[in-house]
Amino acid sequence: MEKKPFVTMEQVQEMAGTYPTPFHLYDEKGIRENAKRLKEAFAWNKGFREYFAVKATPNPFILNILKDYGCGTDCSSLTELMMSDACGFHGHEIMFSSNDTPPEEFQFANDLGAIINLDDITHIQCVEDTIGYIPETISCRYNPGGLFKISNDIMDNPGDAKYGMTTEQIFEAFKILKAKGAKNFGIHAFLASNTVTNEYYPMLAKVLFEVAVKLHEETGADIKFINLSGGIGIPYRPEQEPNDIFAIGEGVRKVYEEVLVPAGMGDVALYTELGRFMLAPYGCLVTKAIHEKHTHKEYIGVDACAVNLMRPAMYGAYHHITVLGKENAPCDHKYDITGSLCENNDKFAIDRMLPQIDMGDYLVIHDTGAHGFSMGYNYNGKLKSAELLLKEDGSVQMIRRAETPKDYFATFDFCDIMKKYL
Ligand SMILES: *Cc1c(COP(=O)(O)O)cnc(C)c1O
Repeated sequence: MEKKPFVTMEQVQEMAGTYPTPFHLYDEKGIRENAKRLKEAFAWNKGFREYFAVKATPNPFILNILKDYGCGTDCSSLTELMMSDACGFHGHEIMFSSNDTPPEEFQFANDLGAIINLDDITHIQCVEDTIGYIPETISCRYNPGGLFKISNDIMDNPGDAKYGMTTEQIFEAFKILKAKGAKNFGIHAFLASNTVTNEYYPMLAKVLFEVAVKLHEETGADIKFINLSGGIGIPYRPEQEPNDIFAIGEGVRKVYEEVLVPAGMGDVALYTELGRFMLAPYGCLVTKAIHEKHTHKEYIGVDACAVNLMRPAMYGAYHHITVLGKENAPCDHKYDITGSLCENNDKFAIDRMLPQIDMGDYLVIHDTGAHGFSMGYNYNGKLKSAELLLKEDGSVQMIRRAETPKDYFATFDFCDIMKKYL
């Protein structure tokens, strides 16, 4: 599928007058339409809820848009819980799917009334010791191990993942939790990441539904919800076919009717914790070409760097790039597109065929709406960019200001050394 930016050169030129590049830009219309489609695709399930994975795009303005579609939040840290609370997500609208959890975070999650999703059997004791009891509603994260395959394709390697309980452990955990007073149970699993196939969720659902039936039969636990978690991917590359969320919803419905309904479990609610699918395509990183360098290769230096988008440096991830105003120009130049970090992996693209780039051209780096800004860091003392929202009416709203040197030095505010810059 051809990848087109949701913003034009003229719009970016106008934005850049007020908000210097680089910045992350989000497309409100795209976010809303997609959230609506997800809701419709699972409308057949009475209790369905998407718990947006806050870590993907931790911004209160984004959370508030998703709230309009009945979304809750999926958190795994103290500050994500705080942001959810501040945005008015209450009680069971918050899922706490953490791992290696500091005990005080279990306490805070419980104080908010969030659903706690236990990553390990030993966390039962940790929760009981920390908050003094086992909450009535509790969830356990499952990891069957091995490889997760669709036909002969290896989707991911759960056996190598640190998350979740083994089959034996989850049965044991349910028995212990029940004995300690838990009444409403949930099961959660995240077995493959960024899947670009309509088959992942239905296959995962089959694994989870079958375990749920057995858990119910063997332990008598009242299973209220099954959480399919994240993992629905997006087509980062133009040649990839996007997922069809309606086909996915329908695939899950079939398995639900085959496995859960005959077992008398036709009232189980389904939850999702999608991050990437909800936001990635509806955000981009806008950056400007500021240097060209002709040495052993052809380099274009831009004003963004891996601090603004880490995925290419960290995973060698592909992010499509459009040179604004040259959408229809031939891609007859081979470039490395680089940032300014003193790290040779700070490249947004390597040997990429693009139109000729001139200094001052604006580049749109696609699909940065999830796991983009949020993975940012401050290496080389680089500052994080602003986040802007392109609203449905075409106006632009700043939804996070850019960092200033003062923010960077703020943790020295207890002493006088950096006073000149504070
Ligand atoms: C990261 C994460 C998600 C979201 O994953 P995506 O790949 O963005 O869909 C959901 N649940 C948990 C527990 C996660 O860690």
